[in-house]
Amino acid sequence: MQLEKYSFGIGDRFGQQGTAQLRAFYLARERDLHLVPVWNKSDREHTTIQSVPADTRIAADEAVVRTGWEGSYYVDADHIHLSNVDPYIRHADFFTIDVAGYIGEKATENELHAFVEDNLPQAGVLHIPGIEPHFVVTREVMRRIAEKFLFAIGQAGIIYRHIAENKGEEGFVTEISMDEVEDAQDPVELFYILRAIASEGIPVQTIAPKFSGRFNKGIDFRGDVARFAVEFEQHLLVTNHAVKCFGLPSNLKLSVHSGSDKFSIYPVIGQMIRKHNKGIHIKTAGTTWLEEVIGLSLAGGDAFRMVSEIYTNAYDRFDELCSPYAQVLDIEKNRLPLPKTVRGWDGDRFAAALRHVPDHPEYNSHLRQLMHVSYKVAAELGNAYIDMLARHHTLIARQVTENIFERHIQKIFVE
Ligand SMILES: [Zn+2]
Repeated sequence: MQLEKYSFGIGDRFGQQGTAQLRAFYLARERDLHLVPVWNKSDREHTTIQSVPADTRIAADEAVVRTGWEGSYYVDADHIHLSNVDPYIRHADFFTIDVAGYIGEKATENELHAFVEDNLPQAGVLHIPGIEPHFVVTREVMRRIAEKFLFAIGQAGIIYRHIAENKGEEGFVTEISMDEVEDAQDPVELFYILRAIASEGIPVQTIAPKFSGRFNKGIDFRGDVARFAVEFEQHLLVTNHAVKCFGLPSNLKLSVHSGSDKFSIYPVIGQMIRKHNKGIHIKTAGTTWLEEVIGLSLAGGDAFRMVSEIYTNAYDRFDELCSPYAQVLDIEKNRLPLPKTVRGWDGDRFAAALRHVPDHPEYNSHLRQLMHVSYKVAAELGNAYIDMLARHHTLIARQVTENIFERHIQKIFVE
């Protein structure tokens, strides 16, 4: 199974917006942009909502059938480990093997020694075509890289082979992710990580490194855009070189996680992939849920009352809801409107605070981040929430499609 050049990960927390999401890909196609959708949902999201992997598959298949989509599409078991992969094996055809939790655990002395000796570059210099100057890679540097990553990639191999035994090697796309860590990987690390992946026999098609800067949930990139541009381009050149050197799949590409709403780096990503004629996978997840909330707000009446109840509840349970995502949130609690203030607003005011239009005077990134992690509160409403979505389906669908197409796809893929 070979993933297309441009793929875009979409999440659908409640499994109600598949058709509206797919519309965005039709709009892209009308402009001759060939993008494939990948529905992703992590184990954490399933647990929070109490959904199961089969639900994601059903929602994706339904959207495809309903709209007559003839292109490829995928269902991604996002951030899986050996301990939680089994329930996904039947339903997913894209597996994001997450090795972040293993980074830093050491392989055996024999394995470390062999890796260093086998891969130490001649004269201690690594040349990646397109990157100047060359990298100096001493035995100490190689040893440090091996100690940090070799064990983790060994674990990825175990997980990959477990999936392959059950699905067949051709039955799925493999991604390896290491984005949920403190330190960004540098180009030399990425190169030898890919070496180790190739040695494990993993036909990796997308790799998600950790980039410098903050990739918070649902808001823009925070960091040095110029530095990101250099890092992104170097990683991209590393993947090219690794394909040639190690015989990895020729469509190997970078995957950008927490990729929704990163408006300030989209032009850089777009420019670099066009410059080097490379593919990209952008993974977004939670913003479709936020568009549901925006749609319900705009609907007003009972629908907005439900939204303000969700907000009140979320505000009161701030620590509980934010703690699982502490690494990827920057919320200043005193910048959140008080629930009683929000209850005095109308739905348009709340929608303006929530919708990600950075220069809108009412946009509030703190409120947006809190709502991003508050889908648990909506899940607790059960059918009352799902019924409300159904009642305002058209209005919500418009928000969902517009968000994916106008604020994401167009900004990345259209010059
Ligand atoms: Zn991730």
